[in-house]
Amino acid sequence: MLHRTFTKVRKASSVVKEHVDNLGYYGGCEERKMESLNLMAEELAGIYGVTVPALALRGGLGAYGMYHIPSQTISLSNTSIVTFLHEFRHHLQHRSDVKTLSDAEKDAQGWACSVFYSAKPNLFEKAVRDGRIMGVMPSDL
Ligand SMILES: [Zn+2]
Repeated sequence: MLHRTFTKVRKASSVVKEHVDNLGYYGGCEERKMESLNLMAEELAGIYGVTVPALALRGGLGAYGMYHIPSQTISLSNTSIVTFLHEFRHHLQHRSDVKTLSDAEKDAQGWACSVFYSAKPNLFEKAVRDGRIMGVMPSDL
């Protein structure tokens, strides 16, 4: 895993962990989850010293998520935290002097996986075994 490549992963993961463990992320309806993701975006933006991106939940994206650079908007087709983190990383790639990998997709997915794994290792491993984490195979665990 690219784990050690990224900065502030521990701080970022504590935001995710708080929402999952203490604020009931997985027990909430889609609306509550979007509220949580908006709060996570605010907190993560604070950690990395960047502006807060806008979030939208919408279908028909042809992808799990998308980051629109001019409007700084993250669009999600579902409320997966890993998808949200992936798109938030694209926001970081454009909005800060955070050191990123030259391959933007590898950087986004690597950071998202590192943050989610640090927050909830068991949930991450289960998601990998269920084939729900793009780019990570059970044999990588
Ligand atoms: Zn991407």
